Amino acid sequence: MFDLVIKDAEIFDGTGSAPVRGDLGVTAGKIAAIAQHGGSKLGAAKETVKADGLALAPGIIDGHTHYDAQITWDPFVDPSPALGVTTAILGNCGFTIAPCRPQDRDLTMRHLTHVEGMSLDALRAGIRWEFESFPQYLDMLTRLGVGPNVACFSGHSSVRTWVMGEEATERTATDDEIAKMVTLVREGMAAGAVGFATSTAEAHNGEGGTPMPSRLADDRELRALVRAMGDSGRGVYMLTKGSKTSIPYLEELAIEARRPVVIAALFHSNTNPTAAFTTLDQVNAARSRGHQLVAQTSCCPLSMDFTFKSPYLFESMESWKPAMAAHGDEALKKVYRDPSWRTAVRREIEAARGRLVFNGEWDKLFIVEAAKPENRKLEGATLAQLATAAGQEPLDFILDFALSENLDTQFVAQLLHNDEKAVGRILADPNTHISLSDAGAHLTFFCDAGFGLHLMGHWSRDLGVLDLPQAVHRLTGQPAKLFGLNGRGLLREGYAADLMLFDPKTVARGPKRRAHDLPSGAARLTTSAVGLHGVWINGTKTADEKGFCIDRTARPGEVLRSFSA
Ligand SMILES: [Zn+2]
Repeated sequence: MFDLVIKDAEIFDGTGSAPVRGDLGVTAGKIAAIAQHGGSKLGAAKETVKADGLALAPGIIDGHTHYDAQITWDPFVDPSPALGVTTAILGNCGFTIAPCRPQDRDLTMRHLTHVEGMSLDALRAGIRWEFESFPQYLDMLTRLGVGPNVACFSGHSSVRTWVMGEEATERTATDDEIAKMVTLVREGMAAGAVGFATSTAEAHNGEGGTPMPSRLADDRELRALVRAMGDSGRGVYMLTKGSKTSIPYLEELAIEARRPVVIAALFHSNTNPTAAFTTLDQVNAARSRGHQLVAQTSCCPLSMDFTFKSPYLFESMESWKPAMAAHGDEALKKVYRDPSWRTAVRREIEAARGRLVFNGEWDKLFIVEAAKPENRKLEGATLAQLATAAGQEPLDFILDFALSENLDTQFVAQLLHNDEKAVGRILADPNTHISLSDAGAHLTFFCDAGFGLHLMGHWSRDLGVLDLPQAVHRLTGQPAKLFGLNGRGLLREGYAADLMLFDPKTVARGPKRRAHDLPSGAARLTTSAVGLHGVWINGTKTADEKGFCIDRTARPGEVLRSFSA
């Protein structure tokens, strides 16, 4: 007798091949049998779900999340499983919370607040610090239990802070310190890390605009740590790439470590439209030489909601440093009012055309929510329009406007990845890794946790950029292979019953909305699924068409700690 039989589904098995109509039986959390129509029938089951031709596929694997902190207070990492995600990879960019000594906890949280836009109050109120080392962190997750399956990277910035303390954000490491970091990475791999993650990206700054620790690593350190991971014979080296780590350099690391290198973040920019394709060509050239470089991209336009209290999109600029160093709103306002500072910002935007996060596309920057009732009529207008109407420079206009509303105006900037023809070409490349939801981070800026539903609905059904079997493959079988997730990512007998049942005619991610439900009441953006009829994690039904349907004291997920080579 099966625990569950899903009858009469279009079964997309995750390999990219055409669907077959049939029934799927689950026993003890695993796929026990798949019967094609016309063949033998499955026997009795404790529970039967009539799919009536809906699509049944493996659950989505989200390769780029930042749930490291949230998972300690919210094992279900809301909202991802309600959006079809059954496995989440944590610790991307190396911004982990383990290892962490008690005296470094506040520093670590303050960094995350900045680099990943997490609320400091939420982190302080929420994180369970029942660990110091990385193995203890994995043990804690295992002991407390998790909603979806999770796999965790050993994170460079945490490793560096453990060894160097506050100096991790100030200088290169000594040989002795590198040796200590190597030991920690080895220990992490032995304990069950999915790989080693770092960031060299100039946009990644911690508190007060100081670079995140990993950005201070020199060539010796990076090579030593990636090699330490590779020595385990397993693992993926993941980085968010800055200008100092070229693709040829990363190819060298892939050769040395004999492991895949996942390179984030491949975004298309209208102000530098060929850059993404140059990178992609370089990555594919390396692949043709037998070196496993993988470009990680997104299927969502990168837009950010922000206020001038924390305008992440400007913070990679040199000229923004005085604003980042300002303590408190009044000091910040003083910087914003300073004409010479404004001139420096304007000059940098002009000079750097195309290389910043925000590149002066004022026609793609909108007022979402004005603070004063009399300004509500301006909601939805672009800053280009408003500045022209006011006869002002856009930068002057936006700063004056924000100042007049006590910095409470909500803006949204459509930053990158919004040329659908160009993005379609990137997604159609069968070797790009479609991920980058950044779920768990930038909670007030955007919510792309539903990226998988968006790929299947928007890009596959609506635009035909890739067919549905391929779209499913890119979200399931492909990342499972990349990360070495044993027995997941495909619908096969003996594989984990990580499943999603959906309607290809309607599947989509819903509109974003603001919720105030983080620890300490902090706000975040969230979204619901459309056309998703069921999500099962290791055979346990977790979500239905209305969202989470599971008793949240249940813990169906597994902390994944062994991976195939
Ligand atoms: Zn990230």
